[in-house]
Amino acid sequence: MFVDTHCHLSFPEFDHDRQEVIARLIEEQIRILIDPGVDVSTSRKSIELANKFDFIYANVGLHPHEAAHTVNKNVYDDLAALAHSPKVVAIGEIGLDYHYPEYNRTAQHEAFREMLRLAKSLDLPVVIHCRDAWEDMLHILSEENHSAMRGIMHCFSGDTDIADACIQMGFKLSIPGTVTYKRSLLPDVVRTVSLDDLLTETDAPYLAPVPCRGKRNEPAYVRIVTESIARIREISVEEAAEAITRTTTELFRLPTS
Ligand SMILES: [Zn+2]
Ligand SMILES: [Zn+2]
Repeated sequence: MFVDTHCHLSFPEFDHDRQEVIARLIEEQIRILIDPGVDVSTSRKSIELANKFDFIYANVGLHPHEAAHTVNKNVYDDLAALAHSPKVVAIGEIGLDYHYPEYNRTAQHEAFREMLRLAKSLDLPVVIHCRDAWEDMLHILSEENHSAMRGIMHCFSGDTDIADACIQMGFKLSIPGTVTYKRSLLPDVVRTVSLDDLLTETDAPYLAPVPCRGKRNEPAYVRIVTESIARIREISVEEAAEAITRTTTELFRLPTS
């Protein structure tokens, strides 16, 4: 069985054919799907979807792009209230994104710290989005006492040094479909870290793996990501899938059946 730790299945891109997408992922043996929020309304949508399906779980979060707009106290109060829903298994996605200069960095830092504190107070893991901001990311995590937290670097995009730094802080690395792209640094990371530090995701509807690159991504393709990891590490797909399922279940404290 396969695991998609980060899939925006509740986004409007799936409104016209969500049932078919779900039918395909079931057929491809994806048995756990985690749907993250990026602001109050999408977090609410994630929870609504998770409430309809046993195998879907929700995250409540504030994406750095959203955090860069005006965020007020009401937003944090609303997110904190939503985070108490029974199907919420983590706070995410949260983090830093310096790729686009128009997103205010100070506002991102404030929101990120606020959400880390929420996760800590609820004893929930964090799902972190980090793009071109590794130095500040690691700095803020150490200031906010990372040893009291656990979580994942979603859609991991760093090199092997950054991978080691994240793992030493107690974070797992979630590998997306970009592992199949020609110039990706991810195969080196996948090869060198421990199998127990790796997770799989699609980040659908974005970042479809080869051979579907450029099209809408969907959760069934997490199988391609898992197969890539197995090939790179020279292990069987079953061994990779089993380890990833175990790590995901433990980290998010999912029910074991
Ligand atoms: Zn992200
Ligand atoms: Zn995402």
